[in-house]
Amino acid sequence: MLARLSKANRITLIILAAVVLAVGAAAFFVSHEAAPAAATREVRVYRNGQLYATGRLGQKDDIVVRGENGEENVVSFTENGVFMKSATCHNQLCIDQGQLTLGNYMSRFYRNEIICLPNRVTVELVLTDEEAADIPDV
Ligand SMILES: [Zn+2]
Repeated sequence: MLARLSKANRITLIILAAVVLAVGAAAFFVSHEAAPAAATREVRVYRNGQLYATGRLGQKDDIVVRGENGEENVVSFTENGVFMKSATCHNQLCIDQGQLTLGNYMSRFYRNEIICLPNRVTVELVLTDEEAADIPDV
């Protein structure tokens, strides 16, 4: 088929293919840039059921939650997740809950939350309505 085209048409075809590839590659990078990155996801930290602080996945700074009796929880972030780095609670269960990410909240016991019962601290990874509706009822 190519052999039947004139030389000029073959060159045009090659240029067209190159342009299509370039546009495709550009669209790929732009769509990745524009997609809501996990790193922009909001995290809410509650103490005694009250909003204490908000953060975002990927942020550098820890959030330190302090109670009136010396309780302290340190919430730390990774690019895709959040975890309890340290806590003064006696059972350390909040630390055992490990990292909460957009990839694992469906299979975690506390779903999109990390809970420290003794210090009454809850860390919530904020989900879209769609994601929240997808969580199976227990
Ligand atoms: Zn705890």
